[in-house]
Amino acid sequence: MRDVTIIGSGPAGLTAALYSARANLTPLVIEGLEAGGQLMLTTAVENFPGFADGIMGPDLMAAMRTQAQRFGAEIVRGHVSAVDLSVRPFTITMGDETIETQTLIIATGASAKLLGLPSERALMGHGVSTCATCDGFFFRGKPIAVIGGGDSALEEATFLTRFASSVTLVHRRDTLRASKIMQDKAMANPKITFEWNTDVMDVLDVDAGAVSGLVIRNNVTGVQKTLPVEGVFVAIGHTPNTSLFRGHLDMDGTGYLKTHDGSRTSIEGVFACGDVQDHVYRQAITAAGSGCMASLDAERYLASHE
Ligand code: NAP
Repeated sequence: MRDVTIIGSGPAGLTAALYSARANLTPLVIEGLEAGGQLMLTTAVENFPGFADGIMGPDLMAAMRTQAQRFGAEIVRGHVSAVDLSVRPFTITMGDETIETQTLIIATGASAKLLGLPSERALMGHGVSTCATCDGFFFRGKPIAVIGGGDSALEEATFLTRFASSVTLVHRRDTLRASKIMQDKAMANPKITFEWNTDVMDVLDVDAGAVSGLVIRNNVTGVQKTLPVEGVFVAIGHTPNTSLFRGHLDMDGTGYLKTHDGSRTSIEGVFACGDVQDHVYRQAITAAGSGCMASLDAERYLASHE
């Protein structure tokens, strides 16, 4: 029987683990298949306080992991297939194992959205990617496209100019959602060009098993053409990882967990932190802060139910 079980190991989950471990609650962290969360897919993090010269995303996550373990957090890798939150203690099913826990902290984060084209899925990992920092290296000297108009798309487009011969940013509207500073940076980069009011119709060439072009259509003029690119980076936002909790916990219309009074969910003893419950701020530092809140809320819940 666990006092605290945490699902997820990004900044939210590992901060919750650190605080719970320091409260002598010996938390179990189930780190999932994407251990470390989205910062594992990032290069330099320059806005996490305390690192005046910046820190690489994976290095920051490794340090958070070590820090939580130092105080007794137990971290296991595994895929949670089911949870039962209808009775106490709660049960978590992971493979053949069933874990009983008094409190549950959900820090499962959010995953990259896709356009939904069959060719996009078929060529994923064969020229289509959702992670510029993971895959940019493979496109040295090649023309590529980035889809999206938010901060992620512009950040990835700018980063990818380190490798690619050219980057075409394909956006469905004629104004960007990204912050002004990101826009200025991308627009000043001579390697980046923009296709405005443009929808992606298809990714070529599924039969060849590699990307050779992107079929795009201007949604104002109706003109369709093929961009001769060898890589496509999809950067159109994220979906919260909450399918496990559907029907158990209250969610908003887009599937983010609803929290109230700090990190409390609709079931007493179940707390949520990080991107799984935050579609507004979505920063490592806010995720870490909410992980701290979840741990303190769980600790107080346990103390009041002793
Ligand atoms: P986002 O802000 O939701 O932007 C998603 C972009 O993709 C939008 O431009 C959207 O178009 C487009 N899009 C969505 N669905 C699409 C579809 N089916 N087909 C074509 N285009 C589609 O997501 P994000 O860029 O991942 O950013 C998420 C949050 O993280 C934001 O709050 C952002 O500020 C933050 N962030 C910050 C940094 C940073 O500060 N360093 C870096 C990355 C992200 P529309 O504009 O037409 O809706």
